[in-house]
Amino acid sequence: MKMTKINTGERGAARVLPTLVVLASVVLVILVAAISLTYKRWEGQAPEVTLDRDFKSLGRAASIGLTVSDPGNGLKQVTIRLKQGDQEVVLADDAFEGAGTTNSKTYEIGNLIAEKHKVQPGPATLTIHASDYAFRNFLGGNRAELTKDFDFDLVAPRLELLSGQHYINQGGAECVVYRVSEDAEISGVQVGSNFFPGFPLKSADANTRFALFAFQYDLPADTHVKVVARDAAGNEATAEPWQKVFPKQFRTRDIVLEDSFIQKVVPEVLSHTPSIQQQEELVKTFVEINSNLRRQNHETIRNMSKESGGEFLWKDAFLQLSNSQVEAFFADRRTYLYQGKRVDQQDHVGFDLSVTQHYPIEAANDGKVILADYFGIYGNTVLIDHGAGLISLYGHMSSIDVKPGQMVKKKEALGKSGETGLAGGDHLHFGFFLQGVPVNPTEWWDAKWIKDHVLDRLKPSSE
Ligand SMILES: [Zn+2]
Repeated sequence: MKMTKINTGERGAARVLPTLVVLASVVLVILVAAISLTYKRWEGQAPEVTLDRDFKSLGRAASIGLTVSDPGNGLKQVTIRLKQGDQEVVLADDAFEGAGTTNSKTYEIGNLIAEKHKVQPGPATLTIHASDYAFRNFLGGNRAELTKDFDFDLVAPRLELLSGQHYINQGGAECVVYRVSEDAEISGVQVGSNFFPGFPLKSADANTRFALFAFQYDLPADTHVKVVARDAAGNEATAEPWQKVFPKQFRTRDIVLEDSFIQKVVPEVLSHTPSIQQQEELVKTFVEINSNLRRQNHETIRNMSKESGGEFLWKDAFLQLSNSQVEAFFADRRTYLYQGKRVDQQDHVGFDLSVTQHYPIEAANDGKVILADYFGIYGNTVLIDHGAGLISLYGHMSSIDVKPGQMVKKKEALGKSGETGLAGGDHLHFGFFLQGVPVNPTEWWDAKWIKDHVLDRLKPSSE
């Protein structure tokens, strides 16, 4: 009997064992499948929390961008809190539905603070918590935290104007002198959309600044000139100096485009400027060069002037090219006609000066060569930085004898005149720029104007 029972048992076990193996295999397959299907959900990459700039203090109208992102499984929760003294306010508390639905979210912290918090001057703490849809941390997701301590600063810097009356020519320049408190981080002059930074005035105390500024020739004459000073928190003080703007009438000119001229200038400019797209008609390529390349060239000058320091490298009046005859004036408005039709309109922001062919081109004043190369519409060009944002341009040259970085003296030869770029005949295009804004060079050619409007203002005893 016992034997039989054992036999029976052995026979039963033999039947159960394969079933268990099959079951275990199935479970294993399901497990492997489940893990491989949810593999992505087990990643350990926490969400990324980034502020668009660093800050130590914030003003009332601060602008701070926050981006929270999680490329892996997407965001689950973002909470932003602000604590100041015993006040704590939740600026945002967002739960995102479903894995992978929201990979990135941006917040404007300044706006959230303005909406939800009664700002007091003094220290505060911003805390950002974010989690994602990963299975880590007992399915709670990967977590990120960012804490930022800063101060609310609600007081604008002090700003005091020191220079008196400002008589400004439309298209011309001026100089303002002012004093700021130590917390001013940026200061200068705002005219329309142009900003002209102030520089420390060496002859005065550490907080006195001067700024050369331009009244762009095409700005309405009733545009107000403002001196501004901003602190690190973004608080801004503004003041309007006494000002009188003299409107100027600039000339208008029709330029008739001959095929011979277009055929001369377009292929040359194209061969030096790979960025310009050739159009189906040569005259259209001309217009592309005359409009877009012109704009790009002026943009380059604007960017280069950001490198100009506060030191004057020049002395006294600037020079008009010796023995030269004026062929075209500053801010002539040119209408371009081709086969009787108007194809373009541009402003000529400089003087065309001619003497004889291949005449030596003289530096208008002391300065540093910052460009000596083929330069778009201006052909072979030299740019000289004279300091404080003043840049002179010498265009259409046939040859260049100076190198970038070289210091030059007033009247030193830079090369020879020519007709490279958009030039019909041998002449010098002389351009004058202040922080990239074209200005009328006649003021800077005039020793009395420079004395009255710039140099006297910068003297130690002036105000
Ligand atoms: Zn010109």
